[in-house]
Amino acid sequence: MPTIDTNLGLVLRQLRDHGPRSRATLATELGLTRTAASTLVADLAERGLVRTGGIERGAVGRPGTNVELDGHAVAGIGAEINVDHVWTMALDLSGAVVSEHKLSLDVSAFPATEVLDRLADLVGQVVLDLERRGTEPVGLTVGVAGLVDRERDLVTHGPNLGWHDVPVGDLVRARLGAAYPVTVDNESNLATLAEATPGDPDRQDILVLFGGVGMGGGIVADGRLLRGRQGYAGEFGHVIVEPQGRRCGCGRVGCWETVVGLRALLDRAADPDDPVRDPALHVDERLAELNRRADLGDTRTLDALAQVAGWLGAGAAVLVNALNPAAIVLSGYFAAVGEHLRPTLETRLRAGVLAPDAGGTRIELSKLGFTASVRGGAGLSLDAVFADPARVERRGAVEGAVR
Ligand SMILES: [Zn+2]
Repeated sequence: MPTIDTNLGLVLRQLRDHGPRSRATLATELGLTRTAASTLVADLAERGLVRTGGIERGAVGRPGTNVELDGHAVAGIGAEINVDHVWTMALDLSGAVVSEHKLSLDVSAFPATEVLDRLADLVGQVVLDLERRGTEPVGLTVGVAGLVDRERDLVTHGPNLGWHDVPVGDLVRARLGAAYPVTVDNESNLATLAEATPGDPDRQDILVLFGGVGMGGGIVADGRLLRGRQGYAGEFGHVIVEPQGRRCGCGRVGCWETVVGLRALLDRAADPDDPVRDPALHVDERLAELNRRADLGDTRTLDALAQVAGWLGAGAAVLVNALNPAAIVLSGYFAAVGEHLRPTLETRLRAGVLAPDAGGTRIELSKLGFTASVRGGAGLSLDAVFADPARVERRGAVEGAVR
């Protein structure tokens, strides 16, 4: 027998997954009485999580007033520690970005404790932004480019950061003294979660390939992130594809990321003194320049992109044979140059997958750019509220009036 608390979550998730709708529609869709739906909506409104909006369109009978998510009361915070930056972002309950701070940093050149000092500063700035708009942080999820033991919030191995057994959760908590929960996750898992749009049937079975300096990814099956026994699933970048190839940051030879990571692309596409290989330039600018050269038909750029696309397709075909996802979502730098990767990638996929037409698996380009991980982290922080809205305190009438 569902309790009122579990029904609060049902209503809130229905609004997240399917958009604004009237109390009457909510009652019908969720199998509740109208009175129960109204009571639940009133309860959620007291917690600042929903508000009434416009008039419901297309409804049968007398049109009702819509109920929609209210972004003001709470926000989730995501953070990312990657090879060349630390980044924080807060999303409100409706998914809108309400604060963002980023710092370019050569992470492997500093001790982990110093990197976490910088991260804590950025999170502090996000919390200040939230305080100014009267929004309560409900959690912080820190994504790290490395293997994460989620039970102990520990980064066991971050090959591209030079990190071993760094207790990120404890160190961040000690720096922030936060009243909200702090969790640590793999950044590619978070980027994957950001692509799995709740309520979208086309985004329930996806494979995400995230291109950065290295390469990561993740699997969403039946709408859930596949984490594996110890949470280490999705380390596609370290599948060995070229045993006679280059040494990887992890110490092995010929990992997939040594042939498809951004480093591999840039090494092929340009000489060392070429601006596209200048780490001081923003990666977006460098990728825009590569796209410009490819659009102009520059042979060296096109060859480098085709090389990456070929390796990407060969590896992706293995994964598609195993998983038959609805879509492969190219994320990170793969999305930025995705239109140039697509033709070779699709050809390789069709050639390498047993099922006709690559099993119907589509190639899609992420629209989130490099923000996928921080967005995924913020979204995961908010999930706690969608699972149990009662964890957000009811607000008094006075405070309600101020908002
Ligand atoms: Zn490796």
